[in-house]
Parts: sequence; C-alpha cells; structure tokens
Amino acid sequence: MLGVSLLLAQGILYFLTMATLFRARGRLGIGVFVCALGVMHFLETYLAAVFFIPMPFGLISPGSTIMFSGKLMMLLLFYIRMDAETVRQPIYGLLIGNLMIVVLAYLLRYMPAAVLEGRQPDLTFLDQMGVLMVWGTVLLFIDSIALILLYEKLGKSLTSSVFVRAFIGAACVLTFDQLGFYAALHWIADVPISALLGGWIAKMIAAVAYSAMLAVYLNYFERDETRVEPERLADVFDRLTYRQRYEDLLRKAGIDQLTGAKGRGEFETAGQIMLDQARAGRRELSLAMIDIDHFKLVNDGHGHVVGDEVLRNVAQTLLKSIRGEDSLFRYGGEEFALICEGLSHSGALALAERLRLAVLTTPQPAMLKDVTISIGVATFPRDAETLVDLVRHADANLYRAKQLGRNRVIGRADEAAG
Ligand code: GH3
Ligand code: MG
Ligand code: MG
Repeated sequence: MLGVSLLLAQGILYFLTMATLFRARGRLGIGVFVCALGVMHFLETYLAAVFFIPMPFGLISPGSTIMFSGKLMMLLLFYIRMDAETVRQPIYGLLIGNLMIVVLAYLLRYMPAAVLEGRQPDLTFLDQMGVLMVWGTVLLFIDSIALILLYEKLGKSLTSSVFVRAFIGAACVLTFDQLGFYAALHWIADVPISALLGGWIAKMIAAVAYSAMLAVYLNYFERDETRVEPERLADVFDRLTYRQRYEDLLRKAGIDQLTGAKGRGEFETAGQIMLDQARAGRRELSLAMIDIDHFKLVNDGHGHVVGDEVLRNVAQTLLKSIRGEDSLFRYGGEEFALICEGLSHSGALALAERLRLAVLTTPQPAMLKDVTISIGVATFPRDAETLVDLVRHADANLYRAKQLGRNRVIGRADEAAG
C-alpha cells in the first residue's frame, strides 16, 4: 500500500512540476520545460531496467509508469497548446541525444582511463542503458506521433472530451509501448515476465490518472485560449515528421502555398517564355485575368480564415477545370492570371465562361452566398504584343466586367464565346 501511495505521490509531483513549468512558458521560456522533460530520460530508463515494486498483479516500474507515461502526456499537452512544429523538436532532440550517448559511451572503452580504487566504471551497464535509451526513444518517437494523431482522429470522429481522447490514445499507445519496451528489457536486462503484465496494468492506471490531470489542467488553467483544430491529420503528420519541408521546396519552386497555383514570380518568367514560344511558333496565346467578386465582404464578414478557405476552393476549381497546357498563377491577393498557349480568343472566352460556371457551383462554407468571379480576356498578338500590354488589356476587360455587374466574362466586343 505504501508503494501505491508513493507512486501516486510521484505521479502528482511529476505532473504538477511539469505543468507548472509549462504554464510559466510565457515568463520562463519553453526551454525550461523541455530541458526538464529531457533530463529525466536517463533515470526513467535506468529505473525501468532495474527498479520494480511488487504488486499483486505483477512487477511495476516507477520509471515506466510515472516518468515515461508522464513524458508522453507532456508531449501531448505540448502539442495541444503549441503545435506540431514545436513538439517535434523535443522528440527529435531526445532521439539524437540518446544516439549520442551510445556513441560517446562506445568511444570510452578505447580511452586509457586511470583506475581508481573502488571506482570501476561499469561500461557494460552504460552500453545496456544506451541501447535501452535509444530503443526507448525510438518507441517514444512512434508513440508520440501515434498519440497525437489518435488524439486528433478521436476528436474528429468520437468526442471533443480531452479526457476521453487522451485516455484512449494513451491506452492504445502505452499498450504498444509496453510490448515493445518489455521485449528489449527481457532481452538485455533479463527482466522477468511478471513485469510485462504488471507494467501494462500500471501504465493503464497512469493513462487514466494523467489524462484526468491533463483535462483538469487544460480546463482550468488554459481554458481562455482557444485552439484551432487542424484541418487534416495528414498535415499534422507532415509537420511532426518534417515532411512539410517538402512543401517548402514547392514554395521555392514557385508554387503558392495557399492556393496551389503558381506564384507571382513565376508569372513574369514562365509567362515570358510561353509568349516567346507562341511568337516563334506563330500561335495565339490568351491571357485571362480572374478576380473574385466582393471578396473583401467575405473577409470582413466572416474573417480571414474563411476568406482563405474560399480562396483555396476557387483556386482548386480553377486548377481542376483548366486544360493540361494552361498555367494558372496567383497574380495578387485574390486575383489569378491564366495563360493559355495556342488558344484563340473565342476559345479562351469559352474556357473562361466554363471557369465562371465551375466557380459558381463550387461548394463553399455554408454561411456564404454565391461566390463568383469576373474574368477579363486578351489574346496575343491581336490585343497586345508584349506580356505587360497583354496584362493591361485583360485587366481593362476585367474592370469592365466588374462595372457591368460582376460574375461575367469580358473579351473583345466583336467576339463571342465559341
Ligand atoms: P471586387 O468585386 O471589386 O473585386 O471586390 P473585392 O472586395 O474583391 O475587392 P478587392 O479586389 O479590392 O479586394 C481584395 C481583398 O482580398 C482585399 C484583401 O483583404 C483580400 N485578400 C487579399 N489576399 C488575401 C488572402 O490571401 N487571404 C484573404 N483571406 N484575403 C485576401
Ligand atoms: Mg475582388
Ligand atoms: Mg482584387
């Protein structure tokens, strides 16, 4: 009974201390919390290998029950209040730091060390610890990503209750972890089988206790700050695993992140090349300038998040509706430029009309009335000879489309779509 009470005391002390450091992140900086979290890893692993308390249901380890489960919960808290970009930092830091321990400990054995009376370094023990710590953090790496994704998934499909989401997530992940970590413990440190079941039961109790503390903490101490739930699980995963670096590459390649259209910089360079090719091949080239109607009203009435969503929806519709050889650029805020090489003026007007209708029928956030676009079209070489003049000409037509009441396509007066 004494064991259980002390364990409970440890768990509460652990949570209180870490949550306090976390809560004070504004004043202390988040580094204090992260360092405290990281530095406990050695003790946690050491205890998990050698220190057990006998319980009726098996052997349980304070290292795994209090510190490892606690750390996982802290990472979840960290994610909930911060974001995936920040939480991946301690996760990767732990992994790299532990690998370093193994390498540094390995090199020790080649050093001509002085032998001190009664103080023999136990390098085998260090090796065992090193391997266990690396394995433990590999598991932690998988555990924390799985826990965060499960937490989000449950939030979308089951309940908004933090306690239920955290508990189910932690119970699943800690079960997996127990199997994985016990296998290593058994292999390296010959830990008996009674620690497997005992450890699992203890982890489930820890999952209940920590989830409850987490829910209380979030409800009473950080309630004021609202949290934006992520849109897609895939985004969370990408961020946790640094995959969004790949998206940065896209940006460098000139793709606009919000809309997926090519960026403004690309318009000048790629547009010029396409125009040169059209000129060389004596082909026509049409430019459509596309602007969302009354977009300021969307932003002003419903906020920029909704505005961005509308912008993304419109861009996606445009991208889906254009031909393979056309190029769509985000020309400015909510303006797009579409370059269609080899397309006649009447062909471009027809395409623009299709785009207008496609946008009109695109599903948008429920509170919005119809989202429409206006389009001005100009065609090389008849309307203009250079890219700048072509933009000017198409812009003038777009301006007329706006004046005439918006939600329409304007090109040359003497040509109809066909
Ligand atoms: P009009 O029919 O005459 O085009 O009316 P409008 O309200 O669309 O007018 P205008 O083109 O001048 O307004 C564009 C607005 O688009 C202004 C700006 O706040 C907003 N905007 C520009 N870029 C973005 C963006 O990336 N996201 C969001 N949400 N809004 C943007
Ligand atoms: Mg507009
Ligand atoms: Mg505009």
